[in-house]
Amino acid sequence: METAARTAPAAVIVGIDGPSGTGKSSTSKAVAAKLGLRYLDTGAQYRAITWWMLSNGIDVEDAAAVAAAAGKPEIVSGTDPSAPTITVDGADAAGPIRTQEVTSAVSAVSAVPEVRTRLTELQRSIAAAAPQGIVVEGRDIGTTVLPDADLKIFLTASPEARAARRNGELKGKNAQDPADLAATRAALVKRDAADSGRKTSPLAKAADAVEVDTTDLTLEQVVECVVTLVESRRSAAEGTEKRSA
Ligand code: C5P
Repeated sequence: METAARTAPAAVIVGIDGPSGTGKSSTSKAVAAKLGLRYLDTGAQYRAITWWMLSNGIDVEDAAAVAAAAGKPEIVSGTDPSAPTITVDGADAAGPIRTQEVTSAVSAVSAVPEVRTRLTELQRSIAAAAPQGIVVEGRDIGTTVLPDADLKIFLTASPEARAARRNGELKGKNAQDPADLAATRAALVKRDAADSGRKTSPLAKAADAVEVDTTDLTLEQVVECVVTLVESRRSAAEGTEKRSA
């Protein structure tokens, strides 16, 4: 029997970074749903701004043109982990941002500093407005967007495992044709190299991030691992609060 009313846990901010195909989105959504947190997919925001640039005839390889337009589109992210949404100027962008055209163009757009400044501000304001806390996934969350996050995770996996997962997501579980897998693997490696090599907030592991190699783990195992880490950070923080009260 409980003898004292439990106080609500403090808001917790979790940043999950890593290259494509490591299971960031599935893990982040499941962890947020289990812990009653909001969820933000920052990759969807970079894709949304890229889609807007392509739809408005802006040459994505022209960094000055992209920079000049970076403030124009209005991007709104819905943060319910069971039904995340993204709109651009009021239009639902969830489908169009997943096309091959956007995937091929997104690294060029996301390398432009004005784009990053704009989206980083938006991401910080969304995280600050989440009362119970939030899981934010991306490439630079632990290093740049939320350097004071309570927990930083960096997910990795072998290129083979990442290509197999990405093909499964895009084309169903049976799409493991070797030529197709090799093409997906090459596209992933190319995008990661661009994301890791850019000057402004590249894909990188924060010094205080916990690295989890998901190559041989199921989604459930990865989720369990991250949930356990969040809970132990929460109890450590609550212990510190009690001691200092
Ligand atoms: O996660 P997703 O694959 O949807 O991300 C799409 C692209 O958005 C990445 O390849 C990267 O260029 C960019 N991105 C970024 N910083 C983030 C999240 C995504 O530059 N925090």
